[in-house]
Amino acid sequence: MRAHHAAVAAIVLLSIAGLAAQARRPASLVVIGGTVITENSTRQVLSPGAVAIQGTDIVDVGTPESIASRYNATATIDARDQVVLPGLINTHTHAAMVMFRGLADDLALMDWLQKYIFPAEAKAVSPEFVRIGTRLANLEMIESGTTTFADMYYFEEEVAKATRDAGLRGVLGQTVIQFPVADAKTPADGLARAETYIKAFKGDSLIVPAVAPHAMYTLDRATLVGAAELGRRYEVPVLIHLAETEDEVKTARTDHQATPTGYLESIGFFGPRTVAAHGVWVTDEDIQILKRRNVGVSHNPESNMKLASGFAPVTKYLAADVALGLGTDGAASNNDLDMFEAMRQAAFLAKVSTRDPTAVPAQTALDMATIGGARVLGMDRTIGSLEPGKRADLITVSMSAARQTPMYDAVSHLVYVTRGDDVRTTIVNGKVLMQNRQVRTMNRGDVIAQAKALAQKVRDAVQ
Ligand SMILES: [Zn+2]
Repeated sequence: MRAHHAAVAAIVLLSIAGLAAQARRPASLVVIGGTVITENSTRQVLSPGAVAIQGTDIVDVGTPESIASRYNATATIDARDQVVLPGLINTHTHAAMVMFRGLADDLALMDWLQKYIFPAEAKAVSPEFVRIGTRLANLEMIESGTTTFADMYYFEEEVAKATRDAGLRGVLGQTVIQFPVADAKTPADGLARAETYIKAFKGDSLIVPAVAPHAMYTLDRATLVGAAELGRRYEVPVLIHLAETEDEVKTARTDHQATPTGYLESIGFFGPRTVAAHGVWVTDEDIQILKRRNVGVSHNPESNMKLASGFAPVTKYLAADVALGLGTDGAASNNDLDMFEAMRQAAFLAKVSTRDPTAVPAQTALDMATIGGARVLGMDRTIGSLEPGKRADLITVSMSAARQTPMYDAVSHLVYVTRGDDVRTTIVNGKVLMQNRQVRTMNRGDVIAQAKALAQKVRDAVQ
């Protein structure tokens, strides 16, 4: 009997071992040991945790022990003493405008645009300018933990090629504007250009092509409607600046007897994939329109403060369940692309503007930079949180600096003390773009040298 029992026990043990070996699935990469902020529906935090990646996708999130026992990893990243979180999503920028960083500061939006930025762009913007500027912006984003960004600029195919080469994800909109610009003599040319570009990049694994009608005050009705129709026909996002300044509201009231939002609603502009940047000067009725039309709103606190445009009613948007994300805007009005700063300033601005310190707590600011941003871009089923089945877009952040010590709450630290420079690892679509602050997909020295050389041409152009 005893021998029989021992034999049975041995068989049972062998079968368990066999099952375990069988069950160990392949993983191309495991990130293990850090505090994992999932941003899933319950905002689960695993401390410590681990993320298993196979190819382009997250296949599992769990404790280090469970992931180690379930996966055979080809590569491992040790994230001990770090925080692991979804890559940050910048819902509004003009990447190549990093080339205008610090060129004209301390001005109001309309002065800044009309006296400096539009003339500088008329002289300086070229495919080469956009390529070099976007590469510099891509480098800055990889180094500061942004994995997806929404862009509105000219020669957008150059933005798309540079971004795909850098390995970042982008929702990249070809700008359409009423006056002659470097890549289009007329708005009709701009729309035709946008269509050609959308056809070329539709279906790309990293690039979502989009059309970007600049704003209601820089476009006539026919072009606004044409851009919206283009978005519907190709089922691509439509990116626009909306209700950024009080001047814009005055223009809309004088020319159309409506708010900017009310005017766009009246011409049938809004579709389910519209992304509206700023949304500062909106009425309660405007907020209801944006909610009804499923428009995503990109809040840009730093740009709004620097240009003194005002403050967006963030708490009202949140209460109305409008999809709300964060953006840096172009570097000429920020002056960097650091989404950690955007989170911090979003929290601070909401508090001071409502005189309520409970407005936009740290968790809400982090939501806006991750899953909220994904929702704004219509991508919340594929990115924005660390969950099995989503694309593997994630970052690891060091928490060992003096200013980060001690750490009681990782979410508080991410929003209130962390900087872009603290990011150690940036992973997009399962590919490691930066590890231990070494960027792998671009030659850092070349990117910076080319940008410095181009800056001389920019200086000459604006003199
Ligand atoms: Zn902008």
